[in-house]
Amino acid sequence: MADSNIPYNPKEEHTLVLIKPDGYARGLIGEVISRIEKRGFKIIGLKITIPTQEELEEHYFEHKDKHFFNSLCEYMSSGPIVAMVVEGSRVVQSFRNMMGDTNPALALPGTIRGDLARDWGPDRGVENIVHGSDSPQSADREIALWFPEMVD
Ligand code: UDP
Repeated sequence: MADSNIPYNPKEEHTLVLIKPDGYARGLIGEVISRIEKRGFKIIGLKITIPTQEELEEHYFEHKDKHFFNSLCEYMSSGPIVAMVVEGSRVVQSFRNMMGDTNPALALPGTIRGDLARDWGPDRGVENIVHGSDSPQSADREIALWFPEMVD
């Protein structure tokens, strides 16, 4: 741990949250952070950045051969995002529950996507406000990508 003021404790569970360009542009940073904090989770890393193609290819490597990969990269690099490391007991699954379904049309009310995301239809990448790691292993990989200074 080099630059961060808040210690990264590998014994705690962490997840990597991104507020995607639509969330940033629509002024939803506070709303998302507020939900995370109200749920009792701790934000131990936070930065604003515009993702590069290289970062997106690494972050979304599992989707590289999918039909939506190009529109996903176009969407994700279209403006600033907020990247966060969030800490707490069972935070990976809890934040997945808080996000709701990938498709905003299917996301339940009460979830971030169900309450806030718009369904843009079939011509665009699915703009759904947030990303959250899908497993503790993915979280480790994604935190090392977006916050190398925290875990080195
Ligand atoms: N996505 C898309 N089209 C699709 C499926 C996914 O544009 O048909 C985008 C969407 O923004 C999604 C991201 O790719 O959040 C990653 O997809 P994943 O299946 O991992 O969903 P998530 O874990 O984000 O719910």
